[in-house]
Amino acid sequence: MKHPRRLIAGVAALLLAGSAGAAAASWSGDEGDAPGSTAAAVEATPPASELTEAQKKSRQHEVDILLAHRATAVLKGDLKGFLAVVDPKQPALVARQRLLFTNLRKFGFSSLKYFTADSWDVPPLAEKYGPTTYTTRVMMRYQLAGLDPKPVQTDLGYTFVRRANLWVLVEDGAIDETLSNDGHRQPWDFGEVTVVRRGKVVVVVDKTEAALGQKIARVSEGAVDAVRRHWPRPWNGAVLVVAMSEPRVMATLWTAGNGQGWTIAAKAVTLHEGEQVGQESGPVIGSRIVVNPSMRKTLEEDLLVHEMTHVATVPIGAKTPIWLVEGVAEYVRAHSIEDDPEWTVDPYRKTVRTKYLPTLQKLPGPNQFDDDADRAYALSWWVVEYLVGASPYHCRREWVDDVSPAGVRRGARGGFRCGRRGRRSRGDWSIRGRRSSSGEPSSGHGSSPGG
Ligand SMILES: [Zn+2]
Repeated sequence: MKHPRRLIAGVAALLLAGSAGAAAASWSGDEGDAPGSTAAAVEATPPASELTEAQKKSRQHEVDILLAHRATAVLKGDLKGFLAVVDPKQPALVARQRLLFTNLRKFGFSSLKYFTADSWDVPPLAEKYGPTTYTTRVMMRYQLAGLDPKPVQTDLGYTFVRRANLWVLVEDGAIDETLSNDGHRQPWDFGEVTVVRRGKVVVVVDKTEAALGQKIARVSEGAVDAVRRHWPRPWNGAVLVVAMSEPRVMATLWTAGNGQGWTIAAKAVTLHEGEQVGQESGPVIGSRIVVNPSMRKTLEEDLLVHEMTHVATVPIGAKTPIWLVEGVAEYVRAHSIEDDPEWTVDPYRKTVRTKYLPTLQKLPGPNQFDDDADRAYALSWWVVEYLVGASPYHCRREWVDDVSPAGVRRGARGGFRCGRRGRRSRGDWSIRGRRSSSGEPSSGHGSSPGG
């Protein structure tokens, strides 16, 4: 009798020949096996629950090869190849997978890989599909052309069974609830989309809302220009804006009912290198902007300016205090509004001066943003205005020395401009920051920002 591992490899070779055309299976060395011996091997293979570690590894390897072919099928536009593994007895699943392929083709991947991660025991699925049921988390590692400087990663959950010597995909969402919240519900995972490209901006909307997509792309381009005017560090302006009617796309915030304020009208979802199941296991690579579905049709440019500032300031680093992150976004937003001589944020200034500033005791942290977001955003903005508008002496000494963790020190060096509005010049920020002894940011100063 042959070694089980070799037998399973034989199954994989057959399966590839059957489902993916000219699939290479050089890893197994078993392509030449007679069909008869392979069939016997399938019968001899124990159910999933009794697999040895080596057999599990083989199974994973086989499915990895299938997944690799699916990725190639997406890149090459090969619908037949993509669907080859999908259970033909399930028309709804086939339709979903066909739609997935249609959507994926619209995004323009410069690279795409699928591969298995950890397997999951899901007893109801095993009961439904039999002893060979194999549920696994699948990583999707991809790079959108013109958008992602490096590959980013998301995960999905697939269930396979072995049927007539082939692995067949029978479920595509059975473990969705256990996967990463923000990560795995991607814009291509729901209804058919329209992808609008304008310059470096890419906007995703529902297929039926192409006109809205064009409008948002125009507004987004204006927002990119505004960020570039007021954020002096280099940013290429490449950004993906998702403005779909589907609330589940990369979002848990607005389905959780956390309020209706403009602060959650959109958000920037950070992408980490090697992100898995909510673990931020790698450095930040970039962001997507996701617009609250209920506000997608009334989206204002200044809101996008705020969110795009988050995208542009990603290089500042993950350890930046929230008041600085949000304060800079508000700073850029406010200045972009006042680029138009007909607009002013004077009422905003007045609110800060009269309502919030008198009781300011310390810089807003996450709790303050949760408790009273309006106040926290407004004060953060004020502080950044202060930093930017104050003399270089103030820039260096009174604020930054007290509050900057390492990430800010590195990222913000030269990132702000010191000097008063109207006569702005690049500040010479040699920031040598340290935390105060309590570990908390120092308390606020009451000076008004320039202007
Ligand atoms: Zn923000």
